[in-house]
Amino acid sequence: MAKVNISNHPLIRHKVTLLRSIETEPKKFRELIREVAILLAYEATADLRVESIPVQTPMAKTMGHELMDKVGLVPILRAGLGMVEGIWEMMPAAEVWHIGLYRDHQTLEPVQYYNKLPVHPTVQVCLILDPMLATGGSAVATVDILKRWGAQRVKFVGIIGAPEGVARLGEAHPDVDIHLAALDDHLTPPPASPDDPPEGYIVPGLGDAGDRQFGTG
Ligand code: URA
Repeated sequence: MAKVNISNHPLIRHKVTLLRSIETEPKKFRELIREVAILLAYEATADLRVESIPVQTPMAKTMGHELMDKVGLVPILRAGLGMVEGIWEMMPAAEVWHIGLYRDHQTLEPVQYYNKLPVHPTVQVCLILDPMLATGGSAVATVDILKRWGAQRVKFVGIIGAPEGVARLGEAHPDVDIHLAALDDHLTPPPASPDDPPEGYIVPGLGDAGDRQFGTG
């Protein structure tokens, strides 16, 4: 079964509360997505491999470490974009491979519209970035794409998950570790009236992570 890591770091819990708030404007929302992503990536990369290398300090020669794993950041468009920059600053040698999926509003299943992965894998570890693990459809589809590409190690880094999404990703890909800032209660059911929210949103969640970042809600 997949390892599911729900961070209980106080900084993350504080920032997720601000993210959830309906009062938080897009500029602040983007900053928070960026910051939470960095903190989650710090936890998700704790098992990257390093090798020992010599280093000359101003005082002496000693041994240090160099990262051995080449990391690929794989944001799912469009909400995953806001998670890239901060993590990339921490790992400037990472490659960024965008995957475009939209959710068919009828079936709620993901449909791929963008994927420019080269023929052969160029990284050892892929971090899929998507703030919301809702039904799990996009996450499973992205892991499918990465595994067909030949990716050896894949991890999912999200901000808020629903039990349904965690279960679906864990069942489809038990080898993929899941890193989240919070595990929420449930998904919205199909709307019974026009005033109800659309199906498949996380409750309590934070609303539409794409709209809230890009000011399109
Ligand atoms: N996507 C979002 O942006 N929010 C949700 O709650 C679910 C999917």
